[in-house]
Amino acid sequence: MPAKLVKTISGVRKAVQQVKKEGGKVGFVPTMGYLHEGHLSLMRQARKETDFVVISIFVNPLQFGPKEDLNRYPRDINRDKRLANEVGVDLIFYPDENEMYPQPFRTFVEVKELDEYLCGRSRPGHFRGVCTVVAKLFNIVQPDIAYFGQKDIQQARIIQQMVKDLNFPIKIKVMPIIREEDGVAKSSRNVYLSQSQRESACILYKALCYGKEKIKDNVRPTNVIKKMKEMITKEGGKIDYVELVDWANLKPVNKVEKGKKYILAVAAWFGKARLIDNEVITL
Ligand code: AMP
Repeated sequence: MPAKLVKTISGVRKAVQQVKKEGGKVGFVPTMGYLHEGHLSLMRQARKETDFVVISIFVNPLQFGPKEDLNRYPRDINRDKRLANEVGVDLIFYPDENEMYPQPFRTFVEVKELDEYLCGRSRPGHFRGVCTVVAKLFNIVQPDIAYFGQKDIQQARIIQQMVKDLNFPIKIKVMPIIREEDGVAKSSRNVYLSQSQRESACILYKALCYGKEKIKDNVRPTNVIKKMKEMITKEGGKIDYVELVDWANLKPVNKVEKGKKYILAVAAWFGKARLIDNEVITL
C-alpha cells in the first residue's frame, strides 16, 4: 500500500489510534524533506522494528535564524513521496505552518546547557525551535520509537535529554551517518554546492578521520583541532567550529581520559552551504 499523505493533526491521530488499538507499534522519523539515503536509512530501521512507520516532512520555521536558508531550503514533495513509498512508509505527515503553529502560539521547549557549544552557539534559538517542533510532533504521533541521525548529533543528544526530562514514553534511536562514496555526509543542503565545492567538501570527513586517529594516539586536542582547521581552510572551507566535546555534556575538553566518550565535530561553510559532520570517539 502506498504511504498515506496526511496534512492534519486529527488525521494522524486517527490513523495512529487505529494501529494502537490493534496492538501495533509505531515508529517515527521526523524530517524536513528533500529525502536522501540518510533519511531513508532511518525509515528502513523503523520499518524493521515497528508495525506502522510515520514520517513527518515539515520545514520548521522556528529553527531557522532570520539570516538562514528557510526560504531556499530545497523542497520536492512528489519525489519525497516516491522515496518514502519505496522504503514502505505507512504515513507521511505533511502539515502546513498554520496546522503546526496556529496563532497565537506561546509555548516553547528549551533544553539548557547542551546547546551552549557547537551548532547551539552559532545558531542561537535553533535547538529551542527543534525541541518545540519535536515535542509537538511526539504529542501528535505518539510513537513508540523515534529515529534520529548521528549526523545531527547535538540535536539527537538534546532530544534524548528532553525525552528524559519531560517523561515522553518514547525510545530514541540514533543511527549512523550515511555518506557519499568520498566520505561527504549526505545532506539536503549538499544541493547548494557547486561541483568544485562539492569536491572540496570531502575534506571535512578526511579531517575528522585524521583527528580521530590523533586523539586516540593521545595527541593534545588543541594541536589536533589546529591542524584540522588548517586542512579545511586549505580546501576553501570557512570554519564555523572544530571542537572536541564530552559526549555527556557537550562541553569542549582539552584533555581526554580513558574509558570516556567524546564527539569530534565540525561545521564549515563551502560557498552558501554550511555543512556539519562528526565522529564519536570512545577511548
Ligand atoms: P533533516 O531533514 O535534515 O532535519 O534530517 C532528518 C533526520 O535525518 C535527522 O534525524 C538527521 O540527523 C537525519 N539525517 C540527515 N542526514 C543524515 C545522514 N547523512 N545520515 C544519517 N542520518 C541523517
